[in-house]
Amino acid sequence: MNILVLGSGGREHALAWAIKQNPKCDRLIVAPGNAGIAQIADCAAIDPCDAAAVLACVEENAIDFVVIGPEAPLAAGVADALRGAGILTFGPSAEAARLEASKAFTKEICDACNAPTAGYARFDDLEEAKDYVLAQGAPIVVKADGLAAGKGVIVAMTLEEALLGLEEIFGGAFGAAGAEVVIEEFMAGEEASLFVLSDGKNVLAVGGAQDHKRVGDGDTGPNTGGMGAYSPAPVLSPEIEAQAMHEIVQPTIDEMARRGTPFQGVLYAGLMIENGRARLVEYNVRFGDPECQVLMLRLGAQALDLLLACAEGRLNEMSVTWADDHAMTVVMAAKGYPGSYQKGTPIQGLDTLPEDSAHMVFHAGTALQDGQIVATGGRVLNVTARGATLKEAQARAYAMVDQIDWPEGFCRRDIGWRAL
Ligand code: ATP
Repeated sequence: MNILVLGSGGREHALAWAIKQNPKCDRLIVAPGNAGIAQIADCAAIDPCDAAAVLACVEENAIDFVVIGPEAPLAAGVADALRGAGILTFGPSAEAARLEASKAFTKEICDACNAPTAGYARFDDLEEAKDYVLAQGAPIVVKADGLAAGKGVIVAMTLEEALLGLEEIFGGAFGAAGAEVVIEEFMAGEEASLFVLSDGKNVLAVGGAQDHKRVGDGDTGPNTGGMGAYSPAPVLSPEIEAQAMHEIVQPTIDEMARRGTPFQGVLYAGLMIENGRARLVEYNVRFGDPECQVLMLRLGAQALDLLLACAEGRLNEMSVTWADDHAMTVVMAAKGYPGSYQKGTPIQGLDTLPEDSAHMVFHAGTALQDGQIVATGGRVLNVTARGATLKEAQARAYAMVDQIDWPEGFCRRDIGWRAL
């Protein structure tokens, strides 16, 4: 079959890499893709949020199946447009994508299905919100309702921070995303991510992971899109995973179906784990980036069969075949990230690295200029490896990092510390 993947990051390189292993895949196109993706697929220079352009690409290339990587095309309704045109598509409708796009909506769903999560209240008025915060006390969490690229959440350890956060959000710092705020009880514990496929009715867990949000070793410095990840996450024991599936994920899928807006795609549950129980922090409606890279390295070719089963509504027929192994990805970023950084710096040594089922460098922000791979983004390479133990995966990943000749790049040297 002919397959189109939408997106241009390390997540989409990993999806394309896994899909390509499967003999069902005849032709693979990624739109818009990047320099690493171009080594294994054809790239189409279109905007993945432009439904008309995506549909034209599908028609022109006789595409049988579309996999949507990032959240923006989902929120823009590209999955709806494709399914409306009769195209088999992996990814939720814009209505179901509200599980990521609106925190208040997610809370409403949790209430309706009794899923454990932080207690909360919603406000569209600054003074009322302030009174509530003063009455509750700190620590407390203040969130802009809509998408704010991870910056709309203030985990306030003091009342002053919480009040300042409210002023900022209602002052318009996040535009329309901050027209409403959700104020939450602070949850203590350790965070982990659980990735679950759904065809709208059935669910299948495809692995857990932990990422590293801070830019510096020892979890210091500003927040980033993620500096590395590993899977499985030891904190997500089989018992806790079962509890999260039974009390949080399945009830959410059931509630979405009951409302006539079934969720089809990957539901990424951000969990807070304390005293052997998980509570929901947030949902995302797509694979995490860089978590997808470790999941795809572990899943390999079967990923395509699983995504197809979601789109075709027959996930109940599927199971995951796991090797008893571990995977880790180390993000290499441009010096200065997440602040300002230089673009166009050359990267050498990539062609000397092994490329097999245990070693892959997924490209996140690269381009080919005059035959030379150059960095074009903040997060640039995802150096990913598998091993019998997490320690072995880590050693393999850092051995590859050390062979990459990119003086303008850097990475954290402690990915995996929580588990090791
Ligand atoms: P955005 O929508 O702006 O992109 P986001 O979706 O990343 O942000 P959340 O995942 O809800 O926002 O919150 C970001 C982080 O804040 C979480 O990963 C967690 O570390 C922390 N956090 C959120 N809610 C709570 C809570 N109730 N208690 C403790 N920590 C929390």
